[in-house]
Amino acid sequence: MKEFLSNYKRVLQTSKKGKKYFFRELFFSLINLVIGIVIPLFVAKQIVYLSNGNQLNELLYISIAIFIIGFVKETNWYLLGVTCRKVRLNIISEIKMISSKNILELSEKTIHESGSGTFIDRLTKDTENMADMYTHGTGYIANTIANLGIFVTLFVINKIVCLYYIVTSIVLTLVHLLRNKKVKKLDIIKRNYGDKVSSLVSELIRGEKDLKLLYSKEAFLNTMNDKIKISMEKDYNCKFTDLFYVYLINILSVIFALILIFLLIWLIKTEQLTASLAVVLFTYRTNVMTNFMENISLLLDEVRLFNTSCKRVFDLIDYNQFEKESFGNKNLKNIDGTFEFKNVKFAYDKEDVIKDLSFKINSGETVAFVGKSGSGKSTIFNLLGKLYDIKDGHIYIDGIDIKDLDEKSIRGNITIITQNPYIFNMSIRDNFKLIKANITDDEIMHSLKVACIDEYVNSLENKLDTVVGENGTILSGGQKQRLAIARAFVQNTKIILFDESTSALDNETQRNIQTAIDNLKGKYTILIIAHRLSTIKSSDRIFVIEDGKVVGEGSHQYLMENNKIYKKLYESENIEK
Ligand code: ADP
Repeated sequence: MKEFLSNYKRVLQTSKKGKKYFFRELFFSLINLVIGIVIPLFVAKQIVYLSNGNQLNELLYISIAIFIIGFVKETNWYLLGVTCRKVRLNIISEIKMISSKNILELSEKTIHESGSGTFIDRLTKDTENMADMYTHGTGYIANTIANLGIFVTLFVINKIVCLYYIVTSIVLTLVHLLRNKKVKKLDIIKRNYGDKVSSLVSELIRGEKDLKLLYSKEAFLNTMNDKIKISMEKDYNCKFTDLFYVYLINILSVIFALILIFLLIWLIKTEQLTASLAVVLFTYRTNVMTNFMENISLLLDEVRLFNTSCKRVFDLIDYNQFEKESFGNKNLKNIDGTFEFKNVKFAYDKEDVIKDLSFKINSGETVAFVGKSGSGKSTIFNLLGKLYDIKDGHIYIDGIDIKDLDEKSIRGNITIITQNPYIFNMSIRDNFKLIKANITDDEIMHSLKVACIDEYVNSLENKLDTVVGENGTILSGGQKQRLAIARAFVQNTKIILFDESTSALDNETQRNIQTAIDNLKGKYTILIIAHRLSTIKSSDRIFVIEDGKVVGEGSHQYLMENNKIYKKLYESENIEK
């Protein structure tokens, strides 16, 4: 109960618009409550007048009164429904936005370890479960309280029967509470396994092309089947326990109904009750034992779902299980573009991937990194972009340790063009607007020209309006990289990190990318992870990386003469693979 109240309050505090409509909802619910208490009293009188048969005028007045109250009740129900939906939609949208923002502030490590399913379900099912509390949930609370009005009527008609109803209701409520406690635990386990299935479903969609081409659909489906089976077992445990308690409650209700008949017979025999009132009291059995209990049961279900979902979403919002990225608070305004790695050590897991790495890059330099696959080149980029925190040593940008810099000073000054840059499923123009909201078409075309992709975009039927598909499906690897270079040009950051595509690009594309990079040279500090000789030769300096360390540094000519590792890489004619 305490957990529920604090969650209930917190959701309303989180959703400002939801809170605004909630007070309106509360007002309509109160009217509902008053009507709920008044109607049974009127209906009881109506039944008595009907069974007496000689108070027809009273019967007419009470029937008109019931009609008016009924009309008010239905109008109020409609207004309550409209308001509830407004509360629900506002809560969903506001909590989804806060959760999405927080996901983008999580550390890379947390995101990779948790899997996408963990976040997808929290953003979809859980936010909806939370919001449901303010629609169905509020309805159940109002109905439950309104149904309490029936006890007032019962008390007026016969105190013994009223007491019997109270005792049986308490017994049934206790069983419901027990059911709720047991099912809640199983529900949390079930949801965690559900997250794993959702992660796989998201991978199935994202990796469908590779699964087809690798001819490994069956193997993936088998893995998925295993996970679904476990998830189903947990779901079954949860549903079975729930079903058992519902069965127990139904059996108890049947037994209580039989005892009620015996009680009514005794009351009639001992002349404590007339037969007509006994009929009235027996009809309330449905209201008390079925409707009332059903409402309580639905309310408890809703509360359980609400509490579980609140925990999952608040864990994300409060970063309980999830680690947030951390930044310093120093701000770098006019960046020069120099940076330095000093005795840097780093490990993704246990083993060090970067081992005592030191180098310095000057402003405006174009530098290439070469080395075997897995030697740690891309990791250097990840560390410069502060996607991960280092274990030891320092990374300086313009002489300031990046640990002390704020997010904008790092990410706002560095552009990383990865091997497979993510192009969003929107038009080419909108992809650019993500970087600069007020960008003009001329500016976009200019940046496309710098990146040597203007001709291709112009050849498309819808030009800048072309929607590129999920992760730019309509674009080739080389085109995506050139579009990313154009984005980098618009971003206009002083430092550009370019992870050259390992995929075999045709000579023309390769030349285009080379020209695109040459166009950026001088004004920017450029770091290239090179997989091809042509890129390396035109660089100011080349670093040879092996096993997370710099094992050679100099121009192409110098390294050819003085560095065996570089010479071997060069002679293999395939620098990276
Ligand atoms: P390169 O770019 O030189 O090919 P990377 O920097 O990508 O090498 O990788 C260096 C090492 O770190 C490799 O052994 C790789 O398996 C490992 N690695 C890369 N990314 C991750 C990650 N996200 N989690 C764990 N290990 C990783």
